Amino acid sequence: MTSVLSRISGSAPTFSVEFFPPRDAVEEGVLWRSIRELEPFDPAYMSITYGAGGSNRDGTIRSIARVAQETTLVPMGHLTAVNHSVAELRNVIGHFAAVGVRNILALRGDPPGDVHGEWIPHPEGLTYAYELVELVRSLGDFCVGVSAFPYGHPRSPDLETDTKHLVRKFQAGADFAIAQLFHEADDFLRLRDRLAAAGVDAPVLPGIMPLTTPRTLHKTIELSGAPAPEWLLRRLEPLADDKQAFRAAGLDVSAELCERLLAEGVPNLHFYTFNRSKATRELITRLGLVPVRA
Ligand code: FAD
Repeated sequence: MTSVLSRISGSAPTFSVEFFPPRDAVEEGVLWRSIRELEPFDPAYMSITYGAGGSNRDGTIRSIARVAQETTLVPMGHLTAVNHSVAELRNVIGHFAAVGVRNILALRGDPPGDVHGEWIPHPEGLTYAYELVELVRSLGDFCVGVSAFPYGHPRSPDLETDTKHLVRKFQAGADFAIAQLFHEADDFLRLRDRLAAAGVDAPVLPGIMPLTTPRTLHKTIELSGAPAPEWLLRRLEPLADDKQAFRAAGLDVSAELCERLLAEGVPNLHFYTFNRSKATRELITRLGLVPVRA
């Protein structure tokens, strides 16, 4: 089994890509075209998200199994505790192992329907991600990742408490973390500093969404949980009605962010792709993260 940790621990920085499970045949075609287009660029790993609130979970397992069996990519499956008993979680983890997926991103997930609604654990399930980390760890030789939030998780009362709970996930056995979207390199670097101050030296990977459209900008603002800085809005918003100009300027912003992160020594850039490959390919080429054989 090739672990994510081993893939991101080399001397040169790497990149990885995240997809969501396709909902129909058309989306399946789009996903597989992107996977095949990215394969020669040798991403450190590729991950497939776990359907929120029970949607399309079989799709996650089917797609990640196919990646494990039909491609050269190192697969990672996301898994959440939403609406699952511990017995069901064991079962899904067993499925991952059976198809050759030994890297798991262990998440609590959000309440189905309304992400801001009350979190109600399954009566025979888990309440926090650290418990899922422990469960995965107890079931075999897995490399386990967790999520981290540069501005703090929206449900955390303050950054200190947020850091304490993040540290708990590493104490439970997490090997690395992937950060939620953020706007400026310093926002991510402060998260890394908080972890270092708490004695955690495991890798934390920045999550990057290439800013190709106004939609990706709004999605970044929404998911990050923090308003975009004035300079960013001034640079991109005037271009909202000019697709090409927005895309060019947005990719400039994304590339500048990535360059700063690489200069700060991040081991890997994790790209949220929306199941497309073009923007990621353009960025990694521009950043010089392309292997010789691509
Ligand atoms: P946790 O780490 O359990 O934290 C949840 C909240 O509980 C936080 O506020 C935390 O501070 C608090 N907390 C933790 N431990 C304790 C404790 N012991 N006592 C009290 N409070 C505590 N969602 C999906 O549905 N599918 C996906 O595939 C998916 N992929 C993601 C990938 C990444 C990289 C990221 C950043 C997020 C992803 N999400 C996904 C979203 C994620 O499931 C939600 O953000 C969810 O709200 C938090 O999950 P978590 O694993 O961080 O939870």
